[in-house]
Amino acid sequence: MRTFVRQFDVFAGFRHFLVSLLLLLPVTAAWAGEAAIEPSDNGTDVLEDSTVDTDSRSSETSAAAEELVEAVPAHEHLVPLADAVTTAEGQAAPLQLLGAEIMPGTVHRLAWSATELFEGVPVSTPVLVVNGALPGPTLCLTAAVHGDELNGIEIVRRVMHQIAPNKLSGAVIGVPIVNVQGFRRGSRYLPDRRDLNRYFPGNPNGSAAARIANALFNDVIAHCDALVDLHTGSFERANLPQIRADLRNPDVVTLTQGFGSMVVLHSSPTVGTLRHAATQAGIPAVTVEAGGPSQLELTEVKHGVKGIETLLSTLGMVPRNRFWGDPEPVYYRSSWVRANNGGILLADVSLGSTVRKGDLLGTITDPMSNQRTEVFSPYAGRIIGMARNQVVMPGFAAFHVGIDAGDIVVEESTPEPLQKPATGGYVDGMSE
Ligand SMILES: [Zn+2]
Repeated sequence: MRTFVRQFDVFAGFRHFLVSLLLLLPVTAAWAGEAAIEPSDNGTDVLEDSTVDTDSRSSETSAAAEELVEAVPAHEHLVPLADAVTTAEGQAAPLQLLGAEIMPGTVHRLAWSATELFEGVPVSTPVLVVNGALPGPTLCLTAAVHGDELNGIEIVRRVMHQIAPNKLSGAVIGVPIVNVQGFRRGSRYLPDRRDLNRYFPGNPNGSAAARIANALFNDVIAHCDALVDLHTGSFERANLPQIRADLRNPDVVTLTQGFGSMVVLHSSPTVGTLRHAATQAGIPAVTVEAGGPSQLELTEVKHGVKGIETLLSTLGMVPRNRFWGDPEPVYYRSSWVRANNGGILLADVSLGSTVRKGDLLGTITDPMSNQRTEVFSPYAGRIIGMARNQVVMPGFAAFHVGIDAGDIVVEESTPEPLQKPATGGYVDGMSE
């Protein structure tokens, strides 16, 4: 029996946090300042191509927040991750998933099918399951919620195939390609141009995106004790490997600390993301960002694999190796530096570069007039995301700076220190 599940009373504090988060939602929505999709729509209209400015929290509205929050299903696994790990004892149990019974100490490949989609035929995607011979929590790994984000697919494959079931405590469930329709078309979106990662936990009677989200959430995610959702940058932008986590949630912090040497960026999750919906349902979740879309980048893949393997070790799910602990900073604030002119953007920094206030980040050259402008960093910090060299329009978000703690004023005693900065331009969850 697994004794670590279902201790509802320990969750009072966490629920209090959720209430606080809900109270904050109208504030964050107000600053998003853009129209968004009604979750109750019928799924037939075509969304505008949002390439130009999806770097804002554009899909977040208070209306969407209320509907999606209401739709969170009752979830049984309301136990903090830390408790899940420390109280696991007894014998491993069979895992019931997608109609299959997975015995302890075995590996299975299952198929998950969200729905009949536009072609009228079911589209299934693999779900890899390792149920350990020893008791412990269930960690879930999801990738390619955005269909063009390939690094996570390879990270999940490598992690899953390196786990020895006879030495694993608990279970690991991997869904390498969540958005199989987008993946087949090399697209971030679903075929109707909807962003699947704005519809969780979904709605069985909603749009196609809402139905797919609902199916994944109920069929797979509801079985998880913790979740790592893998992403990359979007639209010709790449991210330094980093964890995005809501550091106001102690269980999420526990999860974050398990990764070892990886940059952490505090980021309150956008409503409708898988990370938000899972955490709302009592499943601590983080996003791992690594690299850019439409490419397989080996350095980023290896970084992600090492982080998740370290997590398995620190959670006590696999025999402990040497902790991968070269310290990396935690950034509580970040900001995108935007192009003020159109033209050819060429970077003078690279991912991971440390910058001082006033340092040159790149140049933008008008191809007609040959006028060149320089882009400088308004902050001291680190380049945690950046656009690939390309032609840009004015307003294009070009460099994502993780801001050094010393460069911002944070009141120590404020429980919610992360408010909209006076300068504006704070962009969070760019690609998640
Ligand atoms: Zn993504």
